[in-house]
Amino acid sequence: MQRVTGVGASPGVVAGRAVVLIQREQVLRYRVPAARLEAEIAKLEASRHLSHQQLSEIRSSVGRKHGADLASMFDAQLLMLDDRKLLPRAAEMVREQRVNAAWAIQRVFDEFGAVFDDIADEYLRERKGDIADLAGRLKMNLRPGSASAVDLLRELDEASVLVADELPPSIAAQIDWSKVRGFATDAGSRTYHTAILARSLGVPAVVGLQEATRFVQPGQLVAIDGDSGELVLDPSEETLARARRHVDDAAPVSGRQGEPSGPAVTADGVRIKLDANIEFQDDLAAARYAGAEGIGLYRSEFLLMGGVRSWGEASADEDAQYGIYKRMVEGMAPGAVTIRTFDLDQEGGGMRGLRLSLLKPEPFRRQLRALLRASRHGALRVMFPFVSAVEELREARRMVREIASDLAIDEADLRRVPVGAMIEVPAAAYTADLIAREADFLTIGTNDLIQYCLAVDRSDARVSGLYEPLHPAILRMIVMVRRAAKRRGIPVSLCGEMASDPVVLALLVGLGLTEFSMTPAAIPLARRLLQEMRSDELKSIARRVLRLATIEEIERELERNIVVGQRS
Ligand code: PEP
Ligand code: MG
Repeated sequence: MQRVTGVGASPGVVAGRAVVLIQREQVLRYRVPAARLEAEIAKLEASRHLSHQQLSEIRSSVGRKHGADLASMFDAQLLMLDDRKLLPRAAEMVREQRVNAAWAIQRVFDEFGAVFDDIADEYLRERKGDIADLAGRLKMNLRPGSASAVDLLRELDEASVLVADELPPSIAAQIDWSKVRGFATDAGSRTYHTAILARSLGVPAVVGLQEATRFVQPGQLVAIDGDSGELVLDPSEETLARARRHVDDAAPVSGRQGEPSGPAVTADGVRIKLDANIEFQDDLAAARYAGAEGIGLYRSEFLLMGGVRSWGEASADEDAQYGIYKRMVEGMAPGAVTIRTFDLDQEGGGMRGLRLSLLKPEPFRRQLRALLRASRHGALRVMFPFVSAVEELREARRMVREIASDLAIDEADLRRVPVGAMIEVPAAAYTADLIAREADFLTIGTNDLIQYCLAVDRSDARVSGLYEPLHPAILRMIVMVRRAAKRRGIPVSLCGEMASDPVVLALLVGLGLTEFSMTPAAIPLARRLLQEMRSDELKSIARRVLRLATIEEIERELERNIVVGQRS
């Protein structure tokens, strides 16, 4: 038995045969022997031919289903396939430098893609995505018959455990978790989206293991202990017995007695609102069961990731979205449902969240239309992610008004749909007073705020140790945002993962916050602990904490003063 320690990202213990997945693509460069040069060049032509066929099929099927406009998206890729500067240039490179075809494709397409970086025209700049897409297809077709990661994972036996270098949320969302019992990844931290997804699905996970994929053999028996943050190779009988108990206990939520609901109250009578963060409509049951008052964050971009649970097939289509949002507000009534508009990060470089939505107004408009239509059926709040300037918020609100008028929603009805901003970029925290003037509510997203304020990528295992919610800068920013909201008289909540840690939650109450949104599983404990604490005592602890200079001093102060005990 051997144990490797990472970061426990989702609780529970499971065991099974390891499936090892290497996602991060490395294009190898190797020297092709002279005798094989012509065969290597012929592979390029075969890949071009196969890619042409596939793209033509995709174009006509998209055309049939969605019309000629969308189908024309693929014209550019088809044209590039025949461009004399691309594949013929790669063939030349193979011949002259005697490198392998995959390497040559990557080089030629990288050079071509770089030309687009400096182009001012947004539409043209976006073509870079097409270039990468096509390069990926050509490389895949150099080895015809190779399947994608999701295809491979579909074929798995029951009771496997996935060990991957990294697991992007779009892939995690398509895995059949009834077959894969848990996962361990080299990359990642607790707040990486895949970790959040794992908690929401109840799938035990350990992340940040650095090199697990190097030493775990495919087929090896391993256990994942999400409680202790360990990956156990060749586990003992005792560990296997714990894993069996976990599987037996993972009975469906329905039919069990739920937790108390309504606001949580501190020992001195301060009401604390506990909402749930969710990713899937099915999570509504878990949120209600946990006693959440409402949904404080629905990560709507999970709608676009497909393949998981009952409504994975839902697309960005307006009517499908309307149906989903309507069922959510009805299912959570009388509590409010806060729907965050798509927070996608497909382009990299900070083009994400509301910025991306404003850049691509059509899908955004469809989402806003679906939201406003659904708002007629219950308490719905619209929240914009990644706001970094007042201009963005103004533009988004202008679109909301325009769509409301198209839908014949009058001003009085529109006022019943609060529109808020997430404060998760330091620029927004510093200008929270300005943003508060134009928002109906603020929500502090500490997962991103921490990474951008402390300059730590939350998905990068090498620096995840520096990702510190208790850094004095973070605590000051939270206070700043709370004050800005209070002066303006608008509600402010906090929906980052840090609120699920009971000790940190107590500190946040001491800092004056009274609304939180967290993963449903954390709500019952939070409610119980708050009942035992006095907010005036928490305030004086928080005042002392705000004067401390280091994380270590802050942790010590909290440890001394806030004891999270077991309920007797
Ligand atoms: C956050 O950034 O704190 C947040 C809740 O949003 P997400 O984790 O989805 O980025
Ligand atoms: Mg965020």
